[in-house]
Amino acid sequence: MRLRNVKGSRETISASEYTVNEPKEYKGKWKEFFGNDNPIHIEVGMGKGKFITTLASDNPGINYIGIEKYSSVLLRALEKMEELEISNICFIRMDAEEIGEVFDKDEVSKIYLNFSDPWPKDRHAKRRLTSRQFLGRYDSILKKDGVIEFKTDNRPLFDFSLEEAPEAGWKVVKHTFDLHNSDMAEGNVMTEYEEKFSSMGNPIHKMIINR
Ligand code: SAM
Repeated sequence: MRLRNVKGSRETISASEYTVNEPKEYKGKWKEFFGNDNPIHIEVGMGKGKFITTLASDNPGINYIGIEKYSSVLLRALEKMEELEISNICFIRMDAEEIGEVFDKDEVSKIYLNFSDPWPKDRHAKRRLTSRQFLGRYDSILKKDGVIEFKTDNRPLFDFSLEEAPEAGWKVVKHTFDLHNSDMAEGNVMTEYEEKFSSMGNPIHKMIINR
């Protein structure tokens, strides 16, 4: 993602009612934060947030938490929130490496990873959001029957992820190399990157994994 240094984005984010500034304080208490027992779904690396804000609007019975590393990107998601009035979503600016400090065991029901950065060099493999290191972190917060859904147009990253999941103790429940022309397309919500890359003719790959 090309980043612009948006002046004052950190300040704007901290002031937003949709941002959780001290997320570690809510570890084990996210139900109290939302004020209900609804399941919690998170998107790691949400970018400008079209995907997760659409899901939150469409599914009021689910609580959504978007995680994004960069404030200049998260700011774009917050701008979208000005047009919506929903209470089942919040955002956290953080590196997903710290996810185990923010969520407790079994606190999350579903994790979405969309068009994650590929980190093509082998020596950076552990930074990929589908690496065994990250899968281990997700294992510590996801409910026993919880799933991870991953989409990308990057074939090497997808192939890596299909191989990495079983190595890390996960099962590939379903996958496709051409999401938009498969039986997995029903109900698909496009992300910003998905719109861009599929309009260029790139097939979109998707996998669903559980333990
Ligand atoms: N999911 C969006 C989409 O599909 O349009 C954005 C995709 S963009 C290529 C990847 C996003 O993940 C970027 O916004 C990046 O800042 C974020 N990201 C990458 N590594 C991250 C990490 N370790 N923790 C949190 N966010 C991360």
